[in-house]
Amino acid sequence: MTLLSITDLTARYGDFQALFGVDIQLEPGETIAIIGANGAGKTTLMRAITGIVPPSGGSIRLQDRDLTRAPAPEILKAGIAMVPEGRRLFPSLTVEENLLIGGQKRQGNGFWTLARIHELFPILAERRHSPATALSGGQQQMVAIGRALMSNPEVLLCDELSLGLAPVVIKEIYASFPMIRQSGTAIIVVEQDIGQAMKVADRLYCMMEGRITLSGRPGDLSREAIHDAYFGVS
Ligand code: ATP
Repeated sequence: MTLLSITDLTARYGDFQALFGVDIQLEPGETIAIIGANGAGKTTLMRAITGIVPPSGGSIRLQDRDLTRAPAPEILKAGIAMVPEGRRLFPSLTVEENLLIGGQKRQGNGFWTLARIHELFPILAERRHSPATALSGGQQQMVAIGRALMSNPEVLLCDELSLGLAPVVIKEIYASFPMIRQSGTAIIVVEQDIGQAMKVADRLYCMMEGRITLSGRPGDLSREAIHDAYFGVS
C-alpha cells in the first residue's frame, strides 16, 4: 500500500495560487526528491503536507488516513515530521533539549532515541550541553534532522538541507540517510541541487510554477528532459 498519496493538490496564498493539481506517491521505505527553481512551490508543498498552509483542494492521505485538512500537530502525531528550511531550532535551548522536544509529541516505533541520534551524528553527543546557536550551520542542521527523527516519523520531510552549507558538510549530512532509511522512515527531500537529488533519491519529481513537470527514476530521465522541466522549454 502506498504510504503517502498526494492527489490533485492545490494551495493558495490569498488570491495567489501556488500549487496546481500536484500528484505525488511515496512508497514505504522510498526516498524521493522534489527539485525545482526558486519559487517553484516546493516549500509550499511541504507546508501543505504538514498542515501549515491548508490545501485549497485535492487530498493528502497517509496510508488509510485522510490528513488533508488536519491541523499541524495532528499531522505530526500521525507520523509526518519536517526538517524546515532554515532549521528553526530553539536558540535558548541546548542541543539535547532541542532533540528531546522532538520526541514529546509521538513515540512511533521507538527506534529513534537520543542514543541512536548520537550514533547517527556523534558530534551531537559531544555538544549535547551547548546552546544550539553555538553550533556551526551543519551541526545545527544535524540537530534539526535529529529533532524530527525523535518523533519516529513514518515520513521525514527535508526542506533544502544543503542551503548555505559547504560541500563537505552537505556530504556529511547526506551520509546519514542510509541509517534513516534502515529505520524504516520514508524520506522526501526538497533540493535545488539536481546532482545531489539524483544521488540520494529513488525517484525525482520536478516542479515549475506550482506544477509537477516531470517525474521518474534518476536513471530514466535525460539531462535535457530535466533541464526543460526545471527551467521550461525555451
Ligand atoms: P524557494 O526555493 O525559494 O524556497 P520554493 O520552490 O520553495 O522556492 P515557494 O516558497 O513554495 O517556492 O513559493 C512558491 C510561490 O508562492 C512563489 O511565487 C512565492 O512568491 C509564493 N509565496 C510563498 N510564500 C508566500 C506567502 N507567505 N505569501 C504569498 N506568497 C507566497
